[in-house]
Amino acid sequence: MSTIYHDADASLGALAGQTIAVVGYGNQGRSQALNLRDSGLDVVVGNRQDDYGAQARADGFEVLPIDDACARARVVLLLVRDEVMPEVYAERVAPRLSAGALVCFASGYNVAFGLIAPAPELDAVLVAPRMIGLGVRDAFVAGRGFPSFVGVHRDATGTAKARMLALCKGIGSTRGGCIEMSMHDEATLDLFTEQAFGPAFGRVMMTAVDLLVDAGYPPEAVLVELYLSGELAYSLEKIREVGMLRQMDFHSHTSQYGSITRGARFLALGDAIRAKMAEVLEEIRSGRFAEEWSGQRAQADALFARIRQARDAMPIAEWERRARAAFRIGDGQ
Ligand code: NDP
Repeated sequence: MSTIYHDADASLGALAGQTIAVVGYGNQGRSQALNLRDSGLDVVVGNRQDDYGAQARADGFEVLPIDDACARARVVLLLVRDEVMPEVYAERVAPRLSAGALVCFASGYNVAFGLIAPAPELDAVLVAPRMIGLGVRDAFVAGRGFPSFVGVHRDATGTAKARMLALCKGIGSTRGGCIEMSMHDEATLDLFTEQAFGPAFGRVMMTAVDLLVDAGYPPEAVLVELYLSGELAYSLEKIREVGMLRQMDFHSHTSQYGSITRGARFLALGDAIRAKMAEVLEEIRSGRFAEEWSGQRAQADALFARIRQARDAMPIAEWERRARAAFRIGDGQ
């Protein structure tokens, strides 16, 4: 049985008198810093004096170099990009922390795969919102919650859990619910979604697009039918609200009869997909993916540039552009 924390389990008092350094003022950094301050906590921002730093100052925060912010704080939220975090942590954060300080990660990746090892005299916790940065702020302002994956990795002071839950409450996540898990499990679930569920789902969509366009249907109509209309997004929202099977009640009887009878033909595909997903899961759990990615980082920018070029040259990019313009969707408006 999972442990899930809500507002009643957390007290902001656990952070009374403690300065919180939010290191990094990007997607998560800005939203979490604003939410924590609005919850009445004492927040400084650690960032360079560049555009991110300017944004933090414009939002009314004291902005210090990362080293100075960490030296001032008892609690440090590490919210720089994951791939630069090991270096930032080793050079700018760890040397400035005193015994009993708490470091909080928004992703378990670096700790789970041994790229950062917080010192034994520190508390180390995970507060990983299952929500993009903008959503973290929007939900807070609207008085809604959002889920997070949380856990105590190390409790050196005896206060790690109370401080972690106070952070969860301060950013507004315990209004929704915070489920307890290890850094390794959080990182694995996150990577699995990115590497198995997402690509498998994407392959199904691309296969349907190709088949229908090859069968002579206008690309714009195919894309609107499959996902550009927003009906798919709406159905996913209903799946969230009432469940995968019960959302079928919102569709016509013809739709229900057809999807049940024809759906059975795709059952066998599940075994093939599952086998590939299991392969990906094993690579993640064993640490082989993290090792491979660490070795590839130096070439990553060139690789992404090549992928972007190839992606923009694919026919679907032009079909989507035409369809978005025709139906006034997104940047086609
Ligand atoms: P961003 O990419 O938005 O972070 C930008 C921040 O990183 C800026 O403050 C930038 O500062 C800083 N940064 C980049 N390079 C460096 C560097 N070399 N040295 C110091 N600082 C640097 O990050 P996210 O908010 O997306 O991610 C932060 C954490 O939150 C990660 O652990 C991520 O996994 C986690 N997370 C993110 C989610 C999301 O929705 N994006 C969702 C849930 C968790 P500057 O360039 O000014 O130095």
